[in-house]
Amino acid sequence: MLLGIAILITAGLAFLVVMPLLAAEGGSERALPIDVTPQADLKRRRAVIYENIQDLDFEHKAGKISGEDYQAMRQHYLSEAAQLMLASEESEAMNDRDAYIEREVAACRARSRPPQESYVCPKCGYENAVPVKFCGECGARIAGKK
Ligand SMILES: [Zn+2]
Repeated sequence: MLLGIAILITAGLAFLVVMPLLAAEGGSERALPIDVTPQADLKRRRAVIYENIQDLDFEHKAGKISGEDYQAMRQHYLSEAAQLMLASEESEAMNDRDAYIEREVAACRARSRPPQESYVCPKCGYENAVPVKFCGECGARIAGKK
């Protein structure tokens, strides 16, 4: 009897722990737009804030929010929007930097790549595409330049 209760409790706990995880996963998948670049995300969040500000304006006009609260909340939203704007500018600058670094790395790799001649067979002249010790065509030893 006790064992049965223990199993039930354990199963119940496992259910409680796992279910929100599954729900969160499914939910975020559905909520995520196709375009999930950092810039797109920032843009989306900014749009949400602007919507909040519009709602706030509307509620203030409708007399639902006092002037003091309205000003404080509006200020809060505006500073949040400003932060997001800065963040999106930063992330764009970062992208430029990343592209620059990638170009430099690619150029560096191209320079450090051993010359193709090293793998041309001295005996038969076959051009081995990859670094090899022996010719892929005739099996002669290839003295790589290194
Ligand atoms: Zn050869």
